Amino acid sequence: MAQAKFLKEADLAAWLGELAKGRKVLVPQKDGDAVVFKPWHEGVKPVLDRQATESPKKAVFPASEKLFRFSYIKDPENPGKVRVELEEPEKPEPALVFGGRPCDARGFLIFDRVYDSPKTRDSYYVARREATAFVTLACPEASNTCFCHAVGSGPADSAGSDALMTPVEGGYVLEAISPKGEELLKSPLLSDAGDKLAQAERVKAQAVESLPPAPDFAGSPEALMARFDDMGFWENASAKCISCGACTYLCPTCYCFSITDEESGMKGVRMRSWDNCMSYQFTLEASGHNPRPTKAHRLKNRVGHKFSYYPLIHKGAIACCGCGRCIKSCPVSVDIREIVTMAIEAAPTAEESAQPQGAKQ
Ligand code: SF4
Ligand code: SF4
Repeated sequence: MAQAKFLKEADLAAWLGELAKGRKVLVPQKDGDAVVFKPWHEGVKPVLDRQATESPKKAVFPASEKLFRFSYIKDPENPGKVRVELEEPEKPEPALVFGGRPCDARGFLIFDRVYDSPKTRDSYYVARREATAFVTLACPEASNTCFCHAVGSGPADSAGSDALMTPVEGGYVLEAISPKGEELLKSPLLSDAGDKLAQAERVKAQAVESLPPAPDFAGSPEALMARFDDMGFWENASAKCISCGACTYLCPTCYCFSITDEESGMKGVRMRSWDNCMSYQFTLEASGHNPRPTKAHRLKNRVGHKFSYYPLIHKGAIACCGCGRCIKSCPVSVDIREIVTMAIEAAPTAEESAQPQGAKQ
């Protein structure tokens, strides 16, 4: 096993104080009824006993970010000629996400395949990703909306994290997962994990046992493709949806954005902001035509993207980390697990497909 240390509960605030030297530390905090990731400062007690309402994706992919400033410079010799000058983008400040869950960290692996691939390298994303560390809390208990185990993960999955914390009696066992994590664990406040390690393993095993039965998503890419033109299926699946967009904004794996230029006179700033594929405006074209005119088309795209189009491009990887936030926060209880399962169950078997038309009972 990688380097493992023990942190006493009583030393948590002091360790956060150490981590916050020279970097912004985002921790889950109460905000009304919600739990959101906000910068830690002395006196803040992170909320670690429940999954945060939002994912920490804004640490690496802000809801709204300035890409660069630009100015139009007129040529005094030739006033009709204008050149554009761009300012160097700002460097992101070092950051650490503390207390996210394994599904949150896994969400960034889904981003990486899109924003940091040999084909496409989004320099803004990559710079933030490199500047950000993740100290993730293994889930001691699953909730009934969790399905991380159905998408190749689990309550103590360390993929995407730099260090994994497991709650044990009197504190936390901390395991370094990456070289960044090893650095974070070099603190005089931490002691050798010793016999606490066995307790941490028991906590992880109990969390696995607490998971609800895993839906079987095998064959989802093909099953959803088979339902692509079946608008009756999608009208039924989206009947309750009110197009509020909560599912996309809270999702750790939704990465769509739009770009706007905010100009004032001869200067301006180019902004990138989260966009929401569940809204009518997302695909509304300047001509007035909309290729996804109804909520049925939009839900088909959201579910299809995560469980079919993305896996077909990325060697079977599902673009959902099973966090269950879209289920928990949807005001009308649209359940993505049920939709994918319905598509799989509705798909004709190979045997049925081979039967001549009219032969099916
Ligand atoms: S689609 Fe839902 S369950 Fe999957 S990662 Fe997004 S919010 Fe979580
Ligand atoms: S949260 Fe629910 S109601 Fe809102 S857009 Fe998503 S599926 Fe529709």
